[in-house]
Amino acid sequence: MIELANVNKWYGEFHVLKDINLSVYKGERIVICGPSGSGKSTLIRCINRLEEHQKGDILVNGVTLDSNLKNIDAIRGDVGMVFQSFNLFPHLTVLENCTLAPIWVKKTPKRDAEEIAMQYLTRVKIPEQADKYPGQLSGGQQQRVAIARSLCMNPSIMLFDEPTSALDPEMIKEVLDVMVGLAETGMTMLVVTHEMGFANKVADRIIFMDQGEIVEQNVPSEFFTNPKSDRTKLFLSQIL
Ligand code: ADP
Ligand code: MG
Repeated sequence: MIELANVNKWYGEFHVLKDINLSVYKGERIVICGPSGSGKSTLIRCINRLEEHQKGDILVNGVTLDSNLKNIDAIRGDVGMVFQSFNLFPHLTVLENCTLAPIWVKKTPKRDAEEIAMQYLTRVKIPEQADKYPGQLSGGQQQRVAIARSLCMNPSIMLFDEPTSALDPEMIKEVLDVMVGLAETGMTMLVVTHEMGFANKVADRIIFMDQGEIVEQNVPSEFFTNPKSDRTKLFLSQIL
């Protein structure tokens, strides 16, 4: 579903992604970890063109990401993204946050959009918050709204960039539980996270990045018990 071939990106002189090669298959759950500044956010932001790569190829569902706006729109419609900082619209209710894009981008009739939104809000276990504003919710609830809002666009791929990093400890589990539930539905997921319990439970593959490179990737059992590179060993010793 996602294919990156020799992807390179620079910020000015700074080489942030170095020859990234990665194939993600339908239904695969991939966790990306690595030290701060290693290029994890940049990598997943390139997949829906929030950042532009300068060299190499990125294909999503067979569509090449280049400057063709039609292609970019097609891919954005198919790829949901959840950020560390929920990014909800503060002046819209929870329900309105969830129906905005389906109504305006997909031209879904309002009533249908609301019905779908309520189904997803039920799935993330906050249907009773539908008429509240984001500022009235806890961080964990806001992040679950952000996940529901993405799902309302019926994406085939979900990208998560440290979705629990801004949350108080007691709220991390409620968000991870929703993500585990999503994984169980067969959603293709790319998750940047340092929640290694989640990675161990859900990931088909863990990718370790350092200094703009994919240093190592493996199934969780091997990744945790038998890391190959010294950089991976050092990273794991710092976070586990
Ligand atoms: P990570 O998500 O792994 O912490 P990022 O992808 O956010 O890493 O950043 C990788 C590197 O690129 C960091 O050194 C960061 O300072 C730099 N960087 C990120 N965004 C920009 C930008 N817009 N302009 C210049 N440098 C950037
Ligand atoms: Mg980041």
